[in-house]
Amino acid sequence: MTQPNLDRLVPAYVREFEPYIPSKPDAELMKLYGCPRLFRLNNNENPLGPPPAAQEVIRRFPPSQGALYPSGDSYYLRQAIGEIQGVDPDQVLVGNGANEVIAFVIKAFCEPGDNIVTADRTFAVYEWVAVFSGIEARVIPLKDEGFDDAAMLAASDERTKVLFVCNPNNPTGSYWSREKLTAFLDAVGGERIVVVDEAYCEFVEKEDFPNGISLLKAYPNLVVFRTFSKMYGLAALRIGYLVGAPEVVDMIRRTCVVYSVNRVAQEAALAALKDDTGHVQRTRDLVRESRAFLREELEKLRLPVIAGEGNYLIVKLPLSDTLAYRKLMREGIMIRPMTGFRYPNHIRITLGLPEAMEAFLAALKEILP
Ligand SMILES: *Cc1c(COP(=O)(O)O)cnc(C)c1O
Repeated sequence: MTQPNLDRLVPAYVREFEPYIPSKPDAELMKLYGCPRLFRLNNNENPLGPPPAAQEVIRRFPPSQGALYPSGDSYYLRQAIGEIQGVDPDQVLVGNGANEVIAFVIKAFCEPGDNIVTADRTFAVYEWVAVFSGIEARVIPLKDEGFDDAAMLAASDERTKVLFVCNPNNPTGSYWSREKLTAFLDAVGGERIVVVDEAYCEFVEKEDFPNGISLLKAYPNLVVFRTFSKMYGLAALRIGYLVGAPEVVDMIRRTCVVYSVNRVAQEAALAALKDDTGHVQRTRDLVRESRAFLREELEKLRLPVIAGEGNYLIVKLPLSDTLAYRKLMREGIMIRPMTGFRYPNHIRITLGLPEAMEAFLAALKEILP
């Protein structure tokens, strides 16, 4: 039996890439840590679930349609997004989660020797996809917990193809105002693409927070990401999208494989957008109240909190975040250790139901030295 010569077959940038190790299923974790219940506060999921209209679509999905390929370009969903956002449906590209559209963009614009620019402490997938595709990722330190516009511009050169800005930022909750974003877009000009990842925009209640999609006419080098995983509670179905100028999306579309977005996801996402039961408002109210409560309680414990927009906050602990993870898991609380986000000794907590916040606080008090 001849082994494949992996040293020759696999590019160095793949061989040297540290694979991401996904968490075990809940049932396995509960056995492993001996906890009878589990609060999932690690992935910024919506504890209220999908909007009622989307739940109804999932419940009524005809089992026989499991045999049918979905619409290859999420036809009806793109029409609805176009209508709501005031863009042509052809400006919308739907993917298997926003994670997939990150790869579409990098594949469309970058070749070896090119680079992307983003922040060091933000959603890591921009950097990961670039690096395992053989593209340099320039990660710029945050300034006052926010994206540093001037430093990102200074780090760009003639091989910079895409700048990624997470607005609001996961995990710090910082955001760029409309004014700051448009000044950045003006400075970048037409030689580069600016991606604004708005995964958490539906949670933001600030007056000066920009809807990136409304800026596309003025800035055709802008690409905006959205997801149904967070506010719309459809993370299990994996669906997200990007919006850009027609010519730009026409290029990006070449790099995407059709049929990656399943039928249930397309129909549930469409229903989520049309739901009129106040699900978004209920979720915002819940998150706002949990943020205020948790921040105050953590500050009483004299723990440094970083909180802003989004359905999460981060807190610095006087112990290692990975040790805190294991100890909290034994109490049935799953949080996100932040070492992977370059925040050692910090944990991120999803803002959710009062009982989950109470359970987290009680467990945290147990494990603090
Ligand atoms: C969760 C998240 C995404 C990806 O979401 P999908 O589940 O892949 O749609 C993208 N960007 C940020 C900042 C996120 O937190």
